[in-house]
Amino acid sequence: MSETSPAPLARAQDEVAELLSDLIRIDTTNTGDTATGRGERTAAEWVAGKLGEVGIPSVIHESERGRASLVARIEGQDSSRPGLLVHGHLDVVPADPAEWSVHPFSGEERDGYVWGRGAVDMKDMDAMTLALVRDWARTGTKPPRDVVLAFVADEEAGGKLGARYLVEEHPDLFEGCTEAISEVGGFSITVRDDLRLYLVQTAEKGLAWMRLTAGGKPGHGSFVHDDNAVTRLCQAVARLGSARLPTTLTPPMRHFLAAVEEAYGVEIDPDEPEQALARLGSISRMIGAALRNTVNPTMLDAGYKANVIPGTASATVDGRFLYGQEEEFERQLAGLIGEGVQREWLVHDQAVETTFDGPLVDAMVAALKAEDDGARPVPFTMSGGTDAKSFERLGMRCFGFSPLRLPPDLDFASLFHGIDERVPVESLRFGIRVLDRFLRAC
Ligand SMILES: [Zn+2]
Repeated sequence: MSETSPAPLARAQDEVAELLSDLIRIDTTNTGDTATGRGERTAAEWVAGKLGEVGIPSVIHESERGRASLVARIEGQDSSRPGLLVHGHLDVVPADPAEWSVHPFSGEERDGYVWGRGAVDMKDMDAMTLALVRDWARTGTKPPRDVVLAFVADEEAGGKLGARYLVEEHPDLFEGCTEAISEVGGFSITVRDDLRLYLVQTAEKGLAWMRLTAGGKPGHGSFVHDDNAVTRLCQAVARLGSARLPTTLTPPMRHFLAAVEEAYGVEIDPDEPEQALARLGSISRMIGAALRNTVNPTMLDAGYKANVIPGTASATVDGRFLYGQEEEFERQLAGLIGEGVQREWLVHDQAVETTFDGPLVDAMVAALKAEDDGARPVPFTMSGGTDAKSFERLGMRCFGFSPLRLPPDLDFASLFHGIDERVPVESLRFGIRVLDRFLRAC
């Protein structure tokens, strides 16, 4: 323990912004195509160097050339206890410099923020984790149990060459880990000066990307024609795109809505929860999507000439289903797609959910409250997917817990994959203090 240190965590808090800037400057754009992706190997080596400086050994594993993930195990005081995994992805989605106020790979620190692609998704958590374990190594601090660190590739393209690869090919690296923390959770929504909801992710929707294909009779565009593949496909696409599937309240969202009712002193109609959620601001678009299964058509492909009716037409649709709703979702889809249109999965992955209880959750809650006496931690379901889908396969309970106390007026949700992605330096410093308390108590 570091009670002898005159200013606990001073170095970690001082270096976290710089670590984040450095990491942002390593362009780890993941296009989904290894040939055009870049930087993951450089980033993993950089992390290895930062860990090595303080004597923490790590190993880099490549799924394909350059698609590098790094794993390190920090021995705890009692290694016979189950381990805790702290994982973060190193890759980012593309960014177009022409659209940004600063260069997206500059890592510039300006107006109290670190700017750049990955600042909130999720090089911020990578940098906080690194800064903290470096501080611990310097001060001889040991966590109560083993903490496994994983800095992985390819999350932004589904994780097949990162987390999924490690889980399938090197499960021994995570031997004994029963719980995991990572991205999209632990951030604040300000209700009023003395009350902030901290959203801890305990569930993720499942992923069902599909291709729809309609067939018909090809022919001349000038003729009478009653078997047109484009028309049939578009009818199915329109039904899917305009459908509003029924509200289904899963346990995390019941818990979340109850907290919103209490925080804002409102009553929420369980059939129309969106109205009440609107007061949460832009984050309500993300949270609202966790109240039901969703389908959004995203791509269309048919035909090659104005006067030729094609024999087939196809569309790509992004579907997401709630935990426990997979079969119901397929029934809903079948009803909307209708006759004469084939459906095939392009990407299909499970929904995950755990409960908001137990000693690990108690430790999160206590750590947040100790650093913010207005903190009210609540569970929620994420509408998107993360590497939790992979690590859950090894039997871990997965949580989104990358703690950040955010300014009340920051539109946090829009920063994910957004233009001018940035994170307040003060929030990073707060995150380190919370993580330190949490990991010392875990
Ligand atoms: Zn992410």
